Amino acid sequence: MTLAELGVYVVGRCRRDDACLLWPGAVNTGGRPVFRMACCGTRDPRVVLWTASGRKLKHGHVFSKPSCGEMRCLEPAHQRYMLRTEAIQHAARLGLLSSGLRHSAAIRAGQIRRGKGPKVPEQTVQAMRARYAETANAALVAREFGVHHSYAHRIVKNQARRITTPFDGLRP
Ligand SMILES: [Zn+2]
Repeated sequence: MTLAELGVYVVGRCRRDDACLLWPGAVNTGGRPVFRMACCGTRDPRVVLWTASGRKLKHGHVFSKPSCGEMRCLEPAHQRYMLRTEAIQHAARLGLLSSGLRHSAAIRAGQIRRGKGPKVPEQTVQAMRARYAETANAALVAREFGVHHSYAHRIVKNQARRITTPFDGLRP
């Protein structure tokens, strides 16, 4: 199917409502239209109509909430196609950010730490390594110190919280 044919097909599925072209099909968890094709996975039907109408896709740009306010609207003239950073700022002003984006924005603003739980103190890291030297059992160390087993494993193997010396990187 060519792009033009795909565009005609998508428009054919839509319902005209005044100037809006409303997508009756699937939407994702954010309420954004999703076009599931049997042949080649999912596409954003807004992108299909945007490109089928001769408009260009630009790097780092996303479709923000359409100017008509209707999330299911595919009408290219109603799309607000903007830089992702602008779209996030805009959505933040409207209080529309998803929890994931709110989370990453809070990390950037220094309000919360990346990752889960408090940082393991340096003394505990040393004690874990000492215990591992005795037992050679990372799972046991994880249980005893209440640290996630994969993180404990990386600590005792000196992959996380690494001890480095001036000799690191030298060949033996
Ligand atoms: Zn519209």
